[in-house]
Amino acid sequence: MAATQMEQLVSLCKRRGFIFQNSDIYGGLQGLYDYGPLGVELKNNIKAAWWRAMVYERDDVEGLDAAIITNRKVLHYSGHEDTFSDPMVDCRKCKGRFRADHINGVCPNCGSTDLTEPRPFNLMLKTQLGPVVNEDAVAYLRPETAQAIFTQFKNVVDATSRKLPFGIAQIGKSFRNEITPKNFIFRVREFEQAELEFFVKPGEDEKWHEIWKQNRIQWWRDQGIESDNLKIYDQQPDELAHYAKACTDIEYKFPWGFDELEGVANRRDYDLGNHTKSQEEFNLEAKCHENHDSTTKLCIRDDDENKWIVPFVVEPSMGIDRGMLAILVEAYNEEDLGNGNSRIVMKIKKHLAPIKVAIVPLKKNSPEIMAKCHELKQKLMKLGIGRVALENTGNIGKAYRRHDEIGTPLCLTVDFETLEQQPESVTLRDRDTMEQVRVNTADLENYLREYFA
Ligand code: ATP
Repeated sequence: MAATQMEQLVSLCKRRGFIFQNSDIYGGLQGLYDYGPLGVELKNNIKAAWWRAMVYERDDVEGLDAAIITNRKVLHYSGHEDTFSDPMVDCRKCKGRFRADHINGVCPNCGSTDLTEPRPFNLMLKTQLGPVVNEDAVAYLRPETAQAIFTQFKNVVDATSRKLPFGIAQIGKSFRNEITPKNFIFRVREFEQAELEFFVKPGEDEKWHEIWKQNRIQWWRDQGIESDNLKIYDQQPDELAHYAKACTDIEYKFPWGFDELEGVANRRDYDLGNHTKSQEEFNLEAKCHENHDSTTKLCIRDDDENKWIVPFVVEPSMGIDRGMLAILVEAYNEEDLGNGNSRIVMKIKKHLAPIKVAIVPLKKNSPEIMAKCHELKQKLMKLGIGRVALENTGNIGKAYRRHDEIGTPLCLTVDFETLEQQPESVTLRDRDTMEQVRVNTADLENYLREYFA
């Protein structure tokens, strides 16, 4: 996708109701976006696809939905208070502030090389909880969903009697006070993550790291991302987050170049170890804090070795917003239809498409046709395939073009033939091929069930 097409994509997202700038009427707020009528559908479908692959299709993963506001102690012992920072520099000439590792020593605003030395800038967003404003009331908006999975580890194990290896999955909001939010929804200050913490026996972590890398690449392909547009990058030791033994980035070819979509990290026993009381009892690889506050040992019984152990953790962590941008970039197509005609078509995979079927009446405001449209909508809703939209525009050509632009796989047209001829039938028009087939309404449910299976 060319850079100019990126601008057109951003404009389409606003025009058609995928993504809006947050607080738009007041000039926006940097690094924050709102998802519109189609954006919320697409986002929900991406989350559902992830949850299905990571939880429902497996027998070794449980789910969790934890609070966003996080006890300060959790983020103290996890190391985030001390080390969750990016290097920041100031330009002495124009006073701009930038992430040092993103700019190569030259101010992107004014071109000056007169920059301050990089200094760490903590990315966590602080808040106060309760009516008394003092240091004890400080809490954080979580910078990753993972910490609640670690702190609830023992509760989940006790509730489910899980044995290693097994995982806990969570999707939810995370917050980072990014120094320079940019590239639309790629780098924002409030975003959603889908994270799996997969707990394994120490020594089996490298094997599972490899398994999850492959698994996640396949998942991205299943969402319609071409293999050529995906790349993996193994982080160098000096790039690793404070908790990681190794991390592989899955990168996507965004319009500005390959950039991170998802990280698959080997977090070893760092987090469970740091939140665990009496670390001395365990042969922990990571001992970063003298922990006096946690009341629990985040350990599990190893029946083979007949002892309690603190597991290692492999973590595939993806951004839903970044994933959505990649899916939109990948789907965006401008097609020349010949004779001076062209169309924009979003070739979004059908399981992700915001609207699955658009019911289009041939004639606007015809009571008979509209009654049939309503009847069909009720019928199709029962299939549970997702959103079925009902149009009343009366301009079929325009409706087809609009639904091409928002990625609706099928348009279903009700015309006078539907009402007058037996057996009753409708037209189904395919988004990608633009071909139309006539389907008897008696066969419609089976047809669509199979189509969206
Ligand atoms: P980056 O290096 O781009 O800042 P990161 O390596 O710090 O990202 P992780 O901490 O590994 O990111 O977070 C896991 C995933 O969460 C990322 O791969 C990305 O998809 C998503 N993510 C992280 N930060 C942001 C952000 N500011 N905006 C949108 N998504 C984000």
